[in-house]
Amino acid sequence: MATTTERNGTGRGLGARLRATSKVLPEHARAHNRSLVLQHLFHEGPTSRADLARATSLTRVTISDLVSVLITEGLVEELGTRPGQRVGKPAILVGLRTDAYQIVAVDLTEYGRMRGAVLSLTGEIMVRRQLDIDGRTGDELVDLLTRFVRRLVAAAIHPVIGVGVGSPGIIDLDGRVVEAPNRGWYDVPLAEILGDRMGLPVHVANDANTAALGEFTYGGGSSGMLVVTVGAGVGAGIVVDGVRLHGQGDAAGEIGHVTVVDHGECACGRVGCLETVLSVPALRRAIADRTPEDSDAALASAGRVLGVTLAPVVSALNLTEVLLSGPRDLLDGPLREAALDTIRQRTMPAINSGLQLRMAALDEDVVLAGAAVLVLSAQLGVS
Ligand SMILES: [Zn+2]
Repeated sequence: MATTTERNGTGRGLGARLRATSKVLPEHARAHNRSLVLQHLFHEGPTSRADLARATSLTRVTISDLVSVLITEGLVEELGTRPGQRVGKPAILVGLRTDAYQIVAVDLTEYGRMRGAVLSLTGEIMVRRQLDIDGRTGDELVDLLTRFVRRLVAAAIHPVIGVGVGSPGIIDLDGRVVEAPNRGWYDVPLAEILGDRMGLPVHVANDANTAALGEFTYGGGSSGMLVVTVGAGVGAGIVVDGVRLHGQGDAAGEIGHVTVVDHGECACGRVGCLETVLSVPALRRAIADRTPEDSDAALASAGRVLGVTLAPVVSALNLTEVLLSGPRDLLDGPLREAALDTIRQRTMPAINSGLQLRMAALDEDVVLAGAAVLVLSAQLGVS
């Protein structure tokens, strides 16, 4: 499995980068240049102004101005000269002050508890907290989440640049929860409510999409991948050509309620959804009181259903990787192998020859890491 460090090749970088998608308009040029500089420092580590100019194709004058502003803002600092340099005037390196700021991240994936963390800008978890949800939904859950975020912000030892939240449900680009039935949230402007209460920038996104961001930036995920999250429900986050897909209704990756079998009532009111086969409760039920052989056969059967479901998706998007995020004892064995075999049988060699189907790298911290990327991306233009 490729690690982030291997892929960057330098050992100093901090993760993969999402490609900029929007066309640069003149009025956005300054913000764009600023994010180019921050992006380079984030991924490549301390760099001289001359090397920054070369790497970003900006002029030396533009770089000097930008770096001065970033130093004044406290985001960047001068770090002395590069050791071992012998010829000419030694160039002063500038670097991101990754230890001067922190990020607060919350994972709402689990039904029974919320998990939270204070992270450094490099994605290192400095503080962990969790809180039982005790069946709260709706406004009560928003209030509980507010108290939880307040506790996390108080636990930070450096200024917090923003709060990231990964939540189940359909969530638009402004962090409004359009629909999260399990939470009793319908049309709740969660990012705005939390932002007003905390006085901090707050970013909210779907948990599976957040997981995809975490795997892409910190977990060595490739630029064409789908992360299937398997928990109380089933979801997916998709990155194509280095860009996270949103979809016209912000619901890209909602594969949990695609009909895949002709039996089994689903919480959504329909019959035979993928969630009735692949969610953790469904898989646990399928292997309960079985012999090891029967249990392997049941998991392989669920894997074949997943493979049938994903083959057209993998083909349509020509993905390189499918990552499974969830309990290893259920997913990383007959289920994963059967899913890959099934996708191979049902797709062309041009699609499946390089295809990998592996476990996600970040395990249970994947949503927290992705929530931190939401903040980095929105506040600094770094991802
Ligand atoms: Zn359903």
